[in-house]
Formats: sequence, structure tokens, C-alpha cells
Amino acid sequence: MKKILVSGGAGFIGSHLCTRLIKDGHEVICLDNLFTGSEENIAHLKGNPRFQFVLHDVELPYEAEVDEIYNLACPASPVHYQHDAIKTIKTSVLGAINMLGLAKKTGAKIMQASTSEIYGDPVIHPQVESYWGNVNPIGIRSCYDEGKRCAETLFMDYYRQNGIRIKIIRIFNTYGPRMLPDDGRVVSNFVVQALQDKDITIYGSGVQTRSFQYVDDLIEGMVRMMNTEEGFIGPVNLGNPNEFSILELAEKVIRLTGSKSKLIFKPLPHDDPRQRKPDITLAKHKLDWQPVIELEEGLLHMIEYFGKYRS
Ligand code: NAD
Ligand code: UDP
Repeated sequence: MKKILVSGGAGFIGSHLCTRLIKDGHEVICLDNLFTGSEENIAHLKGNPRFQFVLHDVELPYEAEVDEIYNLACPASPVHYQHDAIKTIKTSVLGAINMLGLAKKTGAKIMQASTSEIYGDPVIHPQVESYWGNVNPIGIRSCYDEGKRCAETLFMDYYRQNGIRIKIIRIFNTYGPRMLPDDGRVVSNFVVQALQDKDITIYGSGVQTRSFQYVDDLIEGMVRMMNTEEGFIGPVNLGNPNEFSILELAEKVIRLTGSKSKLIFKPLPHDDPRQRKPDITLAKHKLDWQPVIELEEGLLHMIEYFGKYRS
């Protein structure tokens, strides 16, 4: 049994990770300021003596004796991370410094939840880990992209300078239960809109692509990455390589929900990446991992989860 800290543990991905770690028999400290997370997401864990929730902002240092740290604290939906851009970049940068500081003090192994956004609007397709990316440093997405890039830099420097045991994963678009109905990301938006027979909001012409990963696949990859041999630090892409246009996603959601929704077209947000698809050769080789839940199956789980919003 290990003592594991999960920052951002009351969020969408974090709550699934806490659930998995508790199931595996570990002790879990869930650190969260509840900006986009909620106590409801972790309500099922609250009675467990091995689970502890701590209301805490990672911009401030935190002390505890732990064996492992998963650093997930950071809003991930463009709507949320752009709401207070300065706070977002502080969360990524100061959060990384504080969590790395804790790893240094305790000797804990620490994983950074980085993102496919560090590739920006990629000109290499699919994206391999060796690609340095194409990121606008002064745009409306920069608070998130550059914050996450800086966090990766900090992880590498603490590794090189202080010998901290680090792991870096780059997560590609992930969806699943416990996303907020008003999260703003495309899968939750479309499923809720379709269930309510409301217009499906396509930003731009809908030809931009994303590769959607179901949350259970991601959690398996995260745990496997944490347990890789010392010295393998990544970064490693974790995503589903099956790529769809946003129009194709809308068509699937409408068909699977039997919705009467129509498509409407809204302006494409600034710096919206045109394409995104992970190359997962490294994850396959190092983690013996690949996603097993394909989009239609995952969407059916989402539709069931958001069933209460059906009009
Ligand atoms: P989320 O918004 O549901 O979760 C983020 C959690 O962090 C929330 O519980 C929030 O309250 C907490 N948080 C935010 N700022 C904080 C702060 N200053 N101090 C303490 N807690 C704070 O988003 P998610 O989709 O679960 O994403 C989790 C992590 O995975 C994020 O780091 C995100 O960048 C990364 N990621 C997610 C995706 C995805 O598609 N879901 C893709 C790439 C990377
Ligand atoms: N998108 C859309 N309609 C929505 C929400 C998002 O067409 O209601 C588009 C968005 O412009 C982007 C893609 O879907 O091209 C994925 O957006 P999301 O916010 O889920 O993730 P990210 O852009 O960070 O990959």
C-alpha cells in the first residue's frame, strides 16, 4: 500500500484516478480547490478511511508524507481556463513548483498531467513526442498551453538538477462520466445538446479533427506509466489514435441519441488547432498499453450518464 497524493483529484479525470487508486488498495490524499471539481465527484470515496479530501490551492505549498504524486490540478476546458487566464498559468507553474518541492522533500515519485495542447496547432501529424510543437505564446489559449509547457520544463529541470523521480504524460482529448454538463468541451456539449433536442453548436466548419479517448483507458495508462522502470520519464502520449472531424462526432451523437437536433455553425475560437491525433508507439512499447474503448461505446456511456438531462 502506497500513500498517494492526487492534485485536482475532485475533477473529472482526478476523481476517476482517486477511485482506481483506492480500489488498488492505496491511501489517497485528494487536493483540490473545487474550481471545476466538486465534492459530488468524490462523494462515493468520502466514507473510506484510506481516502482524505483536502481543500487546498496548489498555488500554495502543501506538506505531507507521500510516496507518489499525480499533479492534475488545472482547469482543462477552454471556457474554464480562459475564465481567469492569470490564475490558470499560476496554477500550472506555481502548482508544478509546489508539487515538485513536495517530491523533493519526501522523495516521492511525481507525475505531471501534461497535454496534447503543448503541440499547439501541430504541423506534424500524427503528433510524436519528439515534436516541439507550434504554440502561439500570446494568444487566448497560451495561459493553458504555455503554463503546461513551463510545467514540463520545471519537471525536467528538477529531474536534471535535483534527481527528482518524474514521469510526464501528454493527455489527448479525454471524455467520460463526471464531466460537467456545462463543461464547454465538445463531447459533453454535444451529448447534452442532443439529449435536449437543442441545436448542436459546431465551431467553424467542423472539419477540424480530434482523437477522443475514454477516461477508463487513460486511467489505465496513467497507472502503468507511474509504475514504469526508474529512468523512464517520458514524455509519453496517452490518447486514442482514431481521429474524427467535429462534424463526424456530431453525426454520431445525433444518431446514438436519436435526437432531433440540427447543426448550427458558430465562429471558430482563436487558435483552435486544426488537427490532433496521437502517435502512441511509445506508450504501446513502454507501457504495453493502448486504448480499448472506441468512440461509439464511450459515447453510449456518456449518453447514459447524462440521461437525466434528456428533455
Ligand atoms: P477538470 O477541470 O475536471 O479538473 C481539474 C481539477 O483541478 C478540478 O477538480 C479543479 O477544481 C482543480 N483545480 C484547478 N485549479 C486548481 C488549483 N489552483 N488548486 C487546486 N486544484 C485546482 O479537468 P480534467 O479534464 O479532469 O483535467 C485534469 C488534468 O488533466 C488537467 O491538468 C488537464 O490539464 C489534464 N488534461 C486533461 C485533458 C482532457 O481532455 N480531459 C487533456 C489533456 C490534459
Ligand atoms: N467545439 C465545437 N462545439 C462545441 C465545443 C467545441 O465545435 O460546442 C470544437 C472546438 O472548436 C474544437 C473541438 O470542438 O475544435 C474540441 O474542443 P474542446 O474544447 O473539447 O477541446 P480542445 O479544443 O481543447 O481540443
